[in-house]
Amino acid sequence: MPQPKHAMEVFQLLDKSNCRQCGEKTCLAFAGAVFRGQRDLRQCPMLSPEVVVRFEPDSEGPNSAEQSQEEHLDGLKAEIAGLDLQEAAERAGGRLAGSRLTLKVLGKDFGVDSSGSLITDIHVNPWVAIPVLTHLLHGRGLPAAGNWVSFRELKDGAERYPLFRKRCEEPMKSVADLHTGLFDDMVHIFNGQQVQEQFESDISVVLHPLPKVPLMVCYWLPEDGLQSSLNLFFDETADRNLDIGSIFTLGVGLAQMFQKLSWRHGSPRA
Ligand code: SF4
Repeated sequence: MPQPKHAMEVFQLLDKSNCRQCGEKTCLAFAGAVFRGQRDLRQCPMLSPEVVVRFEPDSEGPNSAEQSQEEHLDGLKAEIAGLDLQEAAERAGGRLAGSRLTLKVLGKDFGVDSSGSLITDIHVNPWVAIPVLTHLLHGRGLPAAGNWVSFRELKDGAERYPLFRKRCEEPMKSVADLHTGLFDDMVHIFNGQQVQEQFESDISVVLHPLPKVPLMVCYWLPEDGLQSSLNLFFDETADRNLDIGSIFTLGVGLAQMFQKLSWRHGSPRA
């Protein structure tokens, strides 16, 4: 089935009752989130299974999700052009030199100029660039509180967790299961810190995708017939420094970056 070409096409399928059972305030908001790949059509209980199946993506092709992320990114760049970069730099923990605001994103310089152009040494896909720009535009700038919470515990995270798990935690776990280098890459390439194991995990690494939005990846090795597992944890302030949609997007972007790195390096577990 061809994928919807814009959010209004998804909206047309919906009940339009704004009943909020999906966790969004309106059907339109839900349609936008589905179109951007942040929500799953199945999360609207008012839709018949026939409609859901008809619009289910056949594959991860260049549909929708990637394309709409690019469009969303273009919109954010345009918004950046009207931003007070000095104020945004102070709020987000970055610095301003001339007309360029620079933030540390995963330990690397990530620059934004007053026209919204991005200047960075690393290849940052739109899934990572979008949360960075959203944080600059709308983040509260709260310092990390030091308490780790799961995605589910963040505001509006519970409804989105099944999809977050499928598109972020499960792919990242598959990489960790096969490639010993994943956590070394996190530490060496992305300036992560291996910290004392948390939540009885075997490995815990803290990353800073944004100066004020740290996240922790915890991995449990397989043991006594139990499968391995991997979960992401966020500082409890994350949902005020970023909206939940951007936190979702960030997690998916990181999972994609790690997948690509592992394909390039290829270091299968012995
Ligand atoms: S559950 Fe479906 S009908 Fe209700 S608000 Fe969400 S999208 Fe609209």
